[in-house]
Parts: sequence; C-alpha cells; structure tokens
Amino acid sequence: MSDELYGKTALVTGAASGIGLAASELFADQGATVIVADINLAIAQEVASNIVANGGQSKALYVDVGDPVSVASLFSQIRRQCSPLDAAFNNAGISDSQCSWIDFPLEQWQRMVDINLNGVFYCLREELQLMNEQQAVDGLLGQIVNTSSGAGLIPAPGQPHYTAAKHAVLGLTRSAAQDFSHKGIRVNSILPGLTETPMIESQPQSMLDTFAKMSPTGRLGQPIDIARVAVWLCSPAAQWVNGQAIVADGGGLMH
Ligand code: NAD
Repeated sequence: MSDELYGKTALVTGAASGIGLAASELFADQGATVIVADINLAIAQEVASNIVANGGQSKALYVDVGDPVSVASLFSQIRRQCSPLDAAFNNAGISDSQCSWIDFPLEQWQRMVDINLNGVFYCLREELQLMNEQQAVDGLLGQIVNTSSGAGLIPAPGQPHYTAAKHAVLGLTRSAAQDFSHKGIRVNSILPGLTETPMIESQPQSMLDTFAKMSPTGRLGQPIDIARVAVWLCSPAAQWVNGQAIVADGGGLMH
C-alpha cells in the first residue's frame, strides 16, 4: 500500500459496484478517507464498512446523481462532515439496451441523459464550488475525474443516448478544466473500454468474447484496471495532466 493520498478526502459516485467499488478500495489503500456515494445505500454501507474493517476510513452516503436535489443534499452533508474535499470521481452511470432511432422512447432518452450527463454536471458544479472555497495545498485546490466511455469517442451501435451522453462528458470535462485550472483544480475524464462489471453481465458471452479478441491484450478490462487510472489522475504524480480524455482499454481502440 502506498500512502500518496494520506490525509486526503475522496468522493466516489457509483461506488457500490464495479469500477466505483474498485476505486473506493484503492483510494482507501492509498490513505484517503473515501466517501462512498451511491443510489444503493445498503450496498454502499457494506463497501464503507469493509474499507473500515481493513483499516481504512470511509463513510457511505446516499445520492441519486440524476436528481439535483439529491446531489445538493449529498454536498451539504460533505460540507458539514467531510470537507475539505480533495478528489472526486464522478463515475455513477447506467447502460441500456439497444434502441431503434425511429421510435426511440423519450423517457429512455431522458433517463440516460439525466444520469449519465446531467448527473456528472450536477456533481461537478458542486465540487467546483466547494473546492473553490477551500485553502489551496501546494497551489492545488482539488482534482476531479469524470467517467466517460469508449463510446465517448466511437459510437456504441443502437445507443445514441449513451453515446451522446458519454461524448458530452468529454466536453464538460474540458470546459471545467479550462475555466478552473488557473484556480488549481484539475479535471480529467477516463474512457474505459469494455470492463467486467455487473453493468455488462447481461451482454451475450459471444459479444464479450469478440471484444476480448479485438483487444491486443486478448482480455476485457477489470474494474481495478480503470480504478488505477482514476486514482492516479487524482494523485500528485498526475499534477501536470489536465483537461484530458484518458482511454483505458488495453489498446482496443487503436484499431
Ligand atoms: P456498475 O453497474 O457495476 O456500477 C454502477 C454503479 O452506479 C452502481 O453501484 C449503481 O448503483 C450506481 N448508480 C446507478 N445509477 C445511479 C444514480 N442515479 N445515482 C447514483 N448512483 C447510481 O457499472 P460500472 O461498469 O462500474 O460503470 C461505472 C461507470 O463506468 C459508468 O459511468 C459506466 O457508464 C462507465 N463505463 C463502464 C464500462 C463497462 O464496460 N463496464 C465501459 C465504459 C464506461
């Protein structure tokens, strides 16, 4: 265990499962106090308890990132109980089945945009405001990472809503990085390739095998592969990395 983030506080959304769970554990391994935030509070509490049982520091909080009132409530609790906030990983997201463009159900479009795009914006603006009020340490106020996707660069077939939301996360990231870097807040995004989490469990095995074969590594990503990049982006070692879209897919998107 390295203690690079010792004494820091990190927020992870979508922290009860998959990539967010792996990132929460890794932030804790590196010495950070982790705010495990998720719409599934019961599982988030288990994640936080496991971190504490392993000698780390953690607290679980409820959030529905698609609801601005819920996000405001999360940040008022963070202000009262956990600030200063040094790092935030805006990672909560959903997937969806393929849809036909022609009779695309509007409620499906709206739900995706609410969670995968608006959810990042609601969290990001609270984080920027909170970090901006804090005292700088070594010229830095905070580091933020947003989860996009390979679908933020290359469209996912039959998924205009997921593709559009994940492309837009890159724009939000660059916009925030441009407007806040002079204050000492770094904002980057991470674009995972297909990663073995509960999100992809319902995908046909034949499709997963095809994706694994397309990768030069011959395998799909694991949550820890993505967590390592997210935690690194929040570490002092990445202090000159800002406004970037980091693809983490073992090289699959080279082709
Ligand atoms: P996952 O389903 O394992 O975890 C997602 C977590 O987000 C869950 O704990 C869930 O409860 C939480 N969540 C869902 N809606 C929420 C809401 N409204 N508010 C708060 N929390 C909510 O999925 P994962 O694969 O770990 O996905 C994490 C992120 O990575 C997502 O943004 C996803 O789009 C992105 N991503 C995943 C893959 C992949 O192949 N798994 C690839 C590219 C990008």
